[in-house]
Amino acid sequence: MRGGRRGGGSCRATPRLREAQRVSGRRARCGSNDTVYWLCATGAAHWYPQRIDRKVQGYGCSVCSRRRLVLRVNDLATTDPLLVTEWHDHLNVPKRPEFMLAGIDRHWWKCAFGHVKQQSVPNRRKSRGCTGCEPEDRILN
Ligand SMILES: [Zn+2]
Ligand SMILES: [Zn+2]
Repeated sequence: MRGGRRGGGSCRATPRLREAQRVSGRRARCGSNDTVYWLCATGAAHWYPQRIDRKVQGYGCSVCSRRRLVLRVNDLATTDPLLVTEWHDHLNVPKRPEFMLAGIDRHWWKCAFGHVKQQSVPNRRKSRGCTGCEPEDRILN
């Protein structure tokens, strides 16, 4: 256990700190505010930058938690491919589902029956599609 040799610190070599030392290739300390790249613990190919001290505090993958946009991993077109077929191309300009996270902003949607509605992605998911349509006609059903 070479981690215990230095002693005196206010923290011990937790598994996360050992991971930091491995990833950063140097003697990371748990208070370090150096930013290094981490690989997501879920096994997904998410590399994300995070400060060592934050990681030791238990901060998770910023791709999984949707703080960081990664094309074809967590952009709206990838996470909600059915919903975005009703994305309103003109009214949402310049926003494109490929270049944004789901978020809570309201966007314009147009269903196959021509209803135009403004809804956030979470609300659109909850209603399973267009609120102007009968429930059985909604795109997620
Ligand atoms: Zn992740
Ligand atoms: Zn509709």
